[in-house]
Amino acid sequence: MATATKLMVWIDQDLCTGDGICEEIAPDVFIGRDDGLWTVKEQANHFGADLFFDAEDAPGHGPEGARGVARVPDAQIDDVIEAAEECPGECIMIEPYNETAIANRGV
Ligand code: SF4
Repeated sequence: MATATKLMVWIDQDLCTGDGICEEIAPDVFIGRDDGLWTVKEQANHFGADLFFDAEDAPGHGPEGARGVARVPDAQIDDVIEAAEECPGECIMIEPYNETAIANRGV
């Protein structure tokens, strides 16, 4: 069953330096992809199904960038905020939860 959440997060891959600090701080929300850039995800243990916003054209994957917003598990809010503060690319974007943006992800 889906968990209520207050925030969404996405990464501007154009600015990502690929150091992986975000995943070290909040491994349930951030993940490195094959091209050396990082992206966001929703994990099954929080939301009932795994979803990766890495622009792969396959089931369980969604768009990257601003359209690829992941819901933030409430238990990870502090970690996601810390990751955004520590991110050297300043490319972790945190937004209030928005149902329309979630519906427009196309997944
Ligand atoms: S901390 Fe920022 S710059 Fe570093 S991998 Fe994560 S999103 Fe990219």
